[in-house]
Amino acid sequence: MKMGLNAAAGGLPTGGGRLDSAGIDYRLAREATLRAWRDGDTSREEVCDAQRELRRNAEFCGEPLDRMCPICEEHELVEVTYVFGPRLPKHGRCVTSDKELARIDARQGESQGYVVEVCVECGWNHLTRSKQLGGG
Ligand SMILES: [Zn+2]
Repeated sequence: MKMGLNAAAGGLPTGGGRLDSAGIDYRLAREATLRAWRDGDTSREEVCDAQRELRRNAEFCGEPLDRMCPICEEHELVEVTYVFGPRLPKHGRCVTSDKELARIDARQGESQGYVVEVCVECGWNHLTRSKQLGGG
């Protein structure tokens, strides 16, 4: 999945968030989704399909990004960080602090962290980054 992302993704939003180093970057997939939507190959309902749970998490534990939603262009995006793994809820845990993330990363068991950008207004959502945590 890594294919010279830095060069290929020039000019695209870099994002900040909690999973800032290493891991997998989904910016190209995101751009492809947005392109398909602009070209009319994908409906707005398909790209704005955030579940109720995700929207709620976005509202209560999302971190505001300094970027407008690419779909409705009326609302700022937020990022939600999820972690899935042993001793965590089945539907994942919504992580809101670096401290908590560091604690999960320090565990023996492997967990997987995901950062999703969400627009709580129209429901646009896309995976931004993922990273393996723990297991070290
Ligand atoms: Zn939106």
